[in-house]
Amino acid sequence: MTIALSKIVQNMQPSATLAMAAKAKELKASGETVYDLSLGEPDFKTPEHICQAAIDALAAGRTHYTVASGIPELKKAVVEEYQKRCGLTYAPTSCVISNGAKHALHNAFFCTLDPGDEVIIPAPYWVSYAELVKLSGAVPVIIQTDQANNFKLTAEALRQAITPKTRMLLLCSPSNPTGSIYRKEDLEALADVVLEKNLFVLADEIYDRLIYGDNKFYSFPTLRDGLQERTILVNGVSKTYAMTGWRIGWTLAPENIAKKMASLQSQETSNPCSISQYAALAAVTGDQSCVATMLAEFSKRRDYVAGRVAGIPGLSCPEMGGAFYCFFNIKEHLGRKYNGVQIDNSEQWCLELLAKKKVATVMGSAFGAEGYARASFATSMDNLAMAFDRIAEFLAE
Ligand code: PMP
Ligand code: GLU
Repeated sequence: MTIALSKIVQNMQPSATLAMAAKAKELKASGETVYDLSLGEPDFKTPEHICQAAIDALAAGRTHYTVASGIPELKKAVVEEYQKRCGLTYAPTSCVISNGAKHALHNAFFCTLDPGDEVIIPAPYWVSYAELVKLSGAVPVIIQTDQANNFKLTAEALRQAITPKTRMLLLCSPSNPTGSIYRKEDLEALADVVLEKNLFVLADEIYDRLIYGDNKFYSFPTLRDGLQERTILVNGVSKTYAMTGWRIGWTLAPENIAKKMASLQSQETSNPCSISQYAALAAVTGDQSCVATMLAEFSKRRDYVAGRVAGIPGLSCPEMGGAFYCFFNIKEHLGRKYNGVQIDNSEQWCLELLAKKKVATVMGSAFGAEGYARASFATSMDNLAMAFDRIAEFLAE
């Protein structure tokens, strides 16, 4: 006898990014040297003063349950930081600290979507969005965007996708997986449609501090009056402070939603790790020079990767304004044989590249965009150099 799975999880897919990273780790464990560009996690150590705050929290016995929605000091620090940096005013009661931004997203969808509601998601999109929306019973409506427009959703395309069931627009700028960033006027045009059509927005701003060159970040609610009460912001410490394993993310939302998310969290997970919350507090309130140091290094890698992609015949990518991903077009290389093996899609391409050249990337199809592959440049220059040498070799074979 087998225990039947619930209907809602039957078709749920595992995270493709984590699956590729696991494949790369397996290969490494078998003794292979792998050039791993699969996972979007900073390769830097969590800065010393943040680790020290965790050690201090342990020593002070801060090892018990906290308020389920997070320690008041961290909520206060998060809202003050948003006020200072973006000019947005939130009460600490509008902030919920969760077990990573992924958990924040899940709870935000769960508290705001009903079965059948439609959520507009511009593709390419981060792998977990569509699955998390489906877990809440809602329907992801995927809109393809163009590489020629740096993979940005246009107001026109948004307008055309709206139906009476549309409830929410999901935005991620800078974007995972494309690295593209919306300009102020792009966001304003979307904001006007949002206001006119009475939509809600979930703005995932987790890459807001990883911005390159002259590009600028605009927090979505700042663009027009009336947006803050219809926007849920998600952010966290994972990317900005190289703290992926600490599992701290947060939501800033209208108070009724934040309160319900806090109740949900009190039933499902209780508080996020107490020690991690004190570490996150040190991250948000402490010396920010670590962010600039990491950004400078990411920026060099981004320029390097852009140069390598441009130098390989048949590859291209959009301008990477932020985050640490290169989403490169491999369409010219599909439908061909590599050492006798026919490769027709991005999944086959990535698996063959890993098998033959030990370079781990993630297939575009996992992000809703066939014909592309994603390379994370949150890894060393040496690793990037070897990986792109091998990609060039692979394509030449
Ligand atoms: N949103 C985006 C766009 C991401 O790339 C990630 C990466 N994991 C997350 C949310 C979740 O981050 P966290 O590690 O805080 O769960
Ligand atoms: N967000 C990162 C990525 O896209 C980490 C893995 C994940 O959570 O999906 O690679």
